[in-house]
Amino acid sequence: MIRMYDILKRNENFANSNKEQITKSAKSQNPVCAVVSCSDSRVPPELLFEAKLGELFTIRTAGGIIDNAGLASLEYAIEYLNVKTVLVLGHTNCGAVTHAQEELIHKHQPPSHEKSHLDDVISEIYKNIEGNKQNLTDLNHAIIDNLKAQVNKINEDPVISRSNAEILLYLYNIETGKVSQVKKDIEFNVRKKKLKNL
Ligand SMILES: [Zn+2]
Repeated sequence: MIRMYDILKRNENFANSNKEQITKSAKSQNPVCAVVSCSDSRVPPELLFEAKLGELFTIRTAGGIIDNAGLASLEYAIEYLNVKTVLVLGHTNCGAVTHAQEELIHKHQPPSHEKSHLDDVISEIYKNIEGNKQNLTDLNHAIIDNLKAQVNKINEDPVISRSNAEILLYLYNIETGKVSQVKKDIEFNVRKKKLKNL
């Protein structure tokens, strides 16, 4: 397992090997889009999209839940960095959504005593997925319902909705390394087909 020492040491290597892009990005940033995604260590947008410094404006939280600070970050990207696209990126096997799904299956209610901020997040995901019975058995379906709730929240932000920024919804597959666009129920049908083939 990698140690903290090694991680810090890698920064030396990064600084030495990327002088050109560091110098260029130090002058200004011009991100292609803002990305809203999960904090899961396996899904860093900059690596998945082979992005360089200054190319992606990322907001990452547990379960990709957008809070006021997340909305403020998007407003900043749109108003001050001229970002025109918001990419809401979910991922398969999301631990936060799995946790909320388990509460839904076993306890039939969101965490009642909100003892921690994590409970608040799980409770919010729970509310985003509880309305559809398919979410009891289909984790990808629950993940996408949670993503859609984030899109709704982003759309309700007056600054963002006034800007007419495009909002795209994608799912990253942690097993293949590929992203696919979420269009209505296509992903669910693909998954069902796979299940039938087993
Ligand atoms: Zn996740």
